[in-house]
Amino acid sequence: MTHPPALDTIACPDCDLQQSIPPLPPGGLAHCPRCQVIVARNPVDPIELPLALTVAAAIVYLIANLTPLMGLSAVGRESTTTILGGAIEMWDQGSEITAIAVAFCAVIAPGAFIAFMLIVLTAALDPPAPRWVGQMFRVAAWMQPWSMTEVMLLGILVALIKIAQLATVVPGPGMYAIGVLVGLLAAVGTTFDAHVIWTRVVWADGTVPPPIPAQPRRARRRARAVPQ
Ligand SMILES: [Zn+2]
Repeated sequence: MTHPPALDTIACPDCDLQQSIPPLPPGGLAHCPRCQVIVARNPVDPIELPLALTVAAAIVYLIANLTPLMGLSAVGRESTTTILGGAIEMWDQGSEITAIAVAFCAVIAPGAFIAFMLIVLTAALDPPAPRWVGQMFRVAAWMQPWSMTEVMLLGILVALIKIAQLATVVPGPGMYAIGVLVGLLAAVGTTFDAHVIWTRVVWADGTVPPPIPAQPRRARRRARAVPQ
């Protein structure tokens, strides 16, 4: 069980220059010495903040899926539906492929992404995280682009405006929850750092990652990467 090297070696995403990243203080950035693009960052709160946002997303996801999206009332009859209820209705009316796409992109993919991120971030709180955490993180990253709650929100709003000419439409709590969920999922995606999670997972050959060093408070927040 040997410790991995202290410095990460990476290629600049813009100009391909190979460089070593020096240890960065919290909130620190490293710039490429050739093209000045940011090649590495050390987030101040890489696990706790995205974990808190993911917990909030899980609660809002449940509200979005268990409460009615909207209520309709026309000629004395009233009706409400949830996201999954809408997909089942589409299936019953012969639009099976659309029903599967809606169920996958609006219910299954965001639900799986939130669940996997909750497990991955909780496990990464106390490194070293077991190997399966890395595998689960890969599945979560694969699910993320299929989670299309914002597309669904747009679709619901268009439908609402069209139906409003034919019936009285009352937006339900589920619709507001989807709006909040869109913002929370975007916040989770921008606050977690895949690199930080990988540095806390046991390596494929069993190597235990080095303990996270105590970071100096008064250090330079900007560093230049060292060309190889
Ligand atoms: Zn560069």
